[in-house]
Amino acid sequence: MTTAEPTQPDDAEIEAGRLLFAKECTFLIGAVSLDDLPDNGLPEVAFAGRSNVGKSSLINALTNRKTLARTSNTPGRTQQLNFFDLGGRLTLADLPGYGYARAPRESVRQWTELVGDYLKGRAPLRRTCLLIDARHGVKANDRDIMTMLDKSAVSFLVVLTKCDKISADELAKTQAETTRELATHVAAHPMLITTSSAKGTGIETLRAALAALALEG
Ligand code: GDP
Repeated sequence: MTTAEPTQPDDAEIEAGRLLFAKECTFLIGAVSLDDLPDNGLPEVAFAGRSNVGKSSLINALTNRKTLARTSNTPGRTQQLNFFDLGGRLTLADLPGYGYARAPRESVRQWTELVGDYLKGRAPLRRTCLLIDARHGVKANDRDIMTMLDKSAVSFLVVLTKCDKISADELAKTQAETTRELATHVAAHPMLITTSSAKGTGIETLRAALAALALEG
């Protein structure tokens, strides 16, 4: 795909995102196997990233909740896919984090199998938001996921997290490097969204991008 562009949604898109994410968001199921996946006929968006990347914080910021997605005190432990219904228009799938250094080999294997099968076979999945810590940039295991998504033909959108933690110069460097990386992945959506859940940066842009994938309401 071509280079990632900084994106500025227009006012109507921002408003659509605001309206969608103002709707009720309810927990559907914590799936430990592919037999448990919800079958609600809605388009689906998944959230993936290394443990501690700020995934729970981002989902909570998007949905204006403090505790919808539980922030993880034990990185690498949860091996379930958590599904949420957003206003009857979009399903959000919170995938278990990966890349926890001390995760036992068996749990890494389980993760790869469960999440890999989900990504390969999930018909309603419209896009995966792949979260990358703005301080660290793309790591080897992020690259592995990108390759898995390329092979599964699952379009992915990279979201930089915790941008408040670094200087503008450092952020520009991560953005440039990440953009270069995305150009090498066929499934990469040509857009890079920079966020801070702590400061609210980029949240309305991401809401707008996801609203474009939701069922018309
Ligand atoms: P998860 O493991 O990916 O779900 O990550 P969490 O959402 O639990 O976040 C991991 C840690 O990073 C927590 O201590 C959060 O408070 C912190 N964190 C998450 N997002 C941000 C952010 O935007 N800015 C800052 N400064 N800290 C954040």
